[in-house]
Amino acid sequence: MRDHFEIRDGDLAGRIGRLEVPRAGVTVETPALLPVVNPNIDTVPPSKLESEFGAEILITNSYIIKKNSHLEKEALDVGLHEMLDFHGAIMTDSGSFQLAEYGDIDTTTEEILQFQYDIGTDIATPVDIPTPPDADREDAESDLEITKQALADAEAIDTGDMLVNAPVQGSTYPDLREEAARHAYDTDLDVFPVGAVVPMMNDYRYDDMVDAIAGAKRGLGVDAPVHLFGAGHPMMLALAVAMGCDLFDSAAYALYARDGRYLTVRGTEHLEDLDYLPCTCPVCSEHSPDDLRAMGSKTQEKRLAEHNLYVTFAELRRIKQAIRDGNLMELVEERARSHPTMLDGYRAMLDHVAQLEREDPASKGAFFYVSNESSYRPEVARHHDRLDRLSAEGTILLTEGGKPSGDEYDEAWRVVPPFGPFPRALSETYPLTAEVPKRLDRDAYEQAARGVARLVRENPDVDFTLAHDDWPASALALVPESVETEPLSTVTETLAARADPLGSDDAASDE
Ligand SMILES: [Zn+2]
Repeated sequence: MRDHFEIRDGDLAGRIGRLEVPRAGVTVETPALLPVVNPNIDTVPPSKLESEFGAEILITNSYIIKKNSHLEKEALDVGLHEMLDFHGAIMTDSGSFQLAEYGDIDTTTEEILQFQYDIGTDIATPVDIPTPPDADREDAESDLEITKQALADAEAIDTGDMLVNAPVQGSTYPDLREEAARHAYDTDLDVFPVGAVVPMMNDYRYDDMVDAIAGAKRGLGVDAPVHLFGAGHPMMLALAVAMGCDLFDSAAYALYARDGRYLTVRGTEHLEDLDYLPCTCPVCSEHSPDDLRAMGSKTQEKRLAEHNLYVTFAELRRIKQAIRDGNLMELVEERARSHPTMLDGYRAMLDHVAQLEREDPASKGAFFYVSNESSYRPEVARHHDRLDRLSAEGTILLTEGGKPSGDEYDEAWRVVPPFGPFPRALSETYPLTAEVPKRLDRDAYEQAARGVARLVRENPDVDFTLAHDDWPASALALVPESVETEPLSTVTETLAARADPLGSDDAASDE
């Protein structure tokens, strides 16, 4: 176990955790956002990040500091914390980003780790190779060997109580990501950044980002704190947290502000296009778009950067509350509607439902069915798995309606789309208490039919009858031929004709 990271609460693969950073003497609550501080540019001072935005941790770049003789001297003389005037934890990058951008840097893992140690870094980074998306497989593999060597070099250095990152690379090859993650996890390094996802996000390839995270997570133990390097747009945070990322860093707040761009949880706006500011942060409460446009460029940049930070930190708090309430999935679904590529990311996440299912708590407050994708949530997959373990005997009516009191059937089970069949005794258990809309979609009925098929497959000797409420043909086609199907209205009429009252203990008719 990695004893510097403790998980307090979870939903999907997302979690609220506590990352102990011994060198800083602080414990950071995750998911956490690390604002990127460029030591050359003072957009929002670190002391303000701490006092006004509640930042517990930030990230800056040791390579930039080392390359500037003035900054280098100051950092060595007084240490990073005093130089930046920040009391929280400080992570530093190593120059790997510059390596990816410019193809060359003049430092090594040994040298830059020692430098990070000397300037008082709390979480340091070795020189890994951020292999871009779509690299040739051979290049991705040879880059990965260099990254593995960098991790070995980092392990060999005595860094005291400074934590050290073990970046996970592997380009767009999920199996390489998994292999890289397994290797990183087997080192004695401490924090696990998933690297080189920035080019994916810049191209709105959220599905590839999800696959990269999923690959990395498969290779890492549950107790590994995971950092999504370079990711901090509020629109994608819920998705990335749900996939199991704990740390994020954002240069976007400052870079976008410089460019007149305004972040929201639904995407990015240009200040020049805004007639209204759709936000309640102090900046947006006190200014109109015209006020901001009338400002000098430096002031405007600062105000926009502040808004961008407010909206990002607010989204993180919303995500944490969703984890506490057990409705992170609903938040991810909501964010998925903000852009078609976010929907791709969300659907890619649902492709990994079996993986998510392993970490997702078995019981939560409420399951809200809010879109056809809700049919593919981990809870539905888990219910289908559970059907294998439920014993059924004799003749069973699977019905969307009430309980018949006649003796035509040995038992009557409920059927609720998208879950499918279950014994009545389970009616009050999560997730079968789900709030489901009356106007359901095809996916929900088809998933329920798959549940029926699963139950039938496991119980070949039982006679099943399915009483359904007008299921679409595509769903009925998934019901095995051995099952007798009839519209619910027929069953109800037959029962009524026999003057058999419907069972009063039917939860579906309670409303
Ligand atoms: Zn605002």
